[in-house]
Amino acid sequence: MSVRRVIPLTLGWEDLPKTVSVLGADPTERLLEPVPAVLLQVDDGWLLLDTGLNPALVRDPVLYRRFHGHGIEAVLPPGDGDPLEQALEEVGLALEQVSVVALSHLHNDHAGGVRHFAGRDVPVHVQRRELDYGLNAPHPEPERHGIFRVDFDDPRLQWAVADGDVEIAPGVTALLTAGHTPGHQSFMVDLEGGGGFVFAFDAADLQENIDDEKPVGGSVGVPPEATLAPLLRLKALAREKGYRLVPGHDPHVWPALTEELRDT
Ligand SMILES: [Zn+2]
Repeated sequence: MSVRRVIPLTLGWEDLPKTVSVLGADPTERLLEPVPAVLLQVDDGWLLLDTGLNPALVRDPVLYRRFHGHGIEAVLPPGDGDPLEQALEEVGLALEQVSVVALSHLHNDHAGGVRHFAGRDVPVHVQRRELDYGLNAPHPEPERHGIFRVDFDDPRLQWAVADGDVEIAPGVTALLTAGHTPGHQSFMVDLEGGGGFVFAFDAADLQENIDDEKPVGGSVGVPPEATLAPLLRLKALAREKGYRLVPGHDPHVWPALTEELRDT
C-alpha cells in the first residue's frame, strides 16, 4: 500500500538572512520562509511530518528574547490559536486524527509542536542520533544551534528511533540526511497510483540549493559544505524514481505545491 493524499501545511514563517539557507549567499538579503509540515494519508490514518514552532516561546516576549530573534525572527500565522491545531482545522482535520508523527530534525521550527502528542498513543519517528544529541549534548550547545529541549524532552512522548533509512509507514521511507543536524532525515513518499515526492526538509531549504547544488548555511558538528552530499543523494534518488524533490523552506515552491495539491 502507499500514500493516498499529500497535504502540505504552513505553520508560520521565518524572517531570516538568506545565508542561513544558502552557504555563501549575499549577507544583506533576507527572506520570509514558510515553516513547513506535511500530512500524509496512510492506511491507518494520517501521518504528520514535522510540527512547526512552539507558539509559547514566540508569544511571550521574555521567552522570545531567550529563544528567538538572534537574526532569525519567528512569525506565527494570524490569530491567537495554536498554529498546528489551526492548520489541521483548515484542512478539516483534528489532532486526534494524527496517528503517527515523524520529525525531520529537532530544530525549533520543526519540533515545536511535538508536545501535542505527549501522552497520546502516537509514535514519533526520529533518528537515534538526533534525539541523542538533543537530550544528551552538553547544555547549552543544542540551544545555541536552535534545538530547544523544552520542546521535546517529555517522558510521555512515544519515541520510535531509527538508525538510518527506514520505512515508517507503507509508502513512507525516512532517509538519513545528517549534516544540517546530527540525525536530520528526509522522507520519500510513494503515491497510490504511481509517482511520489521526496521531501528534503532542511537538507535543501530552497529550490536554489537543489538546482545549483549549493549547501545549506546551517550545520551542526560538521562544516556546512558537508550538507551537500546528502542533498546530492536525495537528488539522485528522486531522479531515479521519477519523483519530485521538494525543498523545505522555499518561499515560492512551498505555497505553489500547497495550491497544486489542494483538493486532490
Ligand atoms: Zn533546521
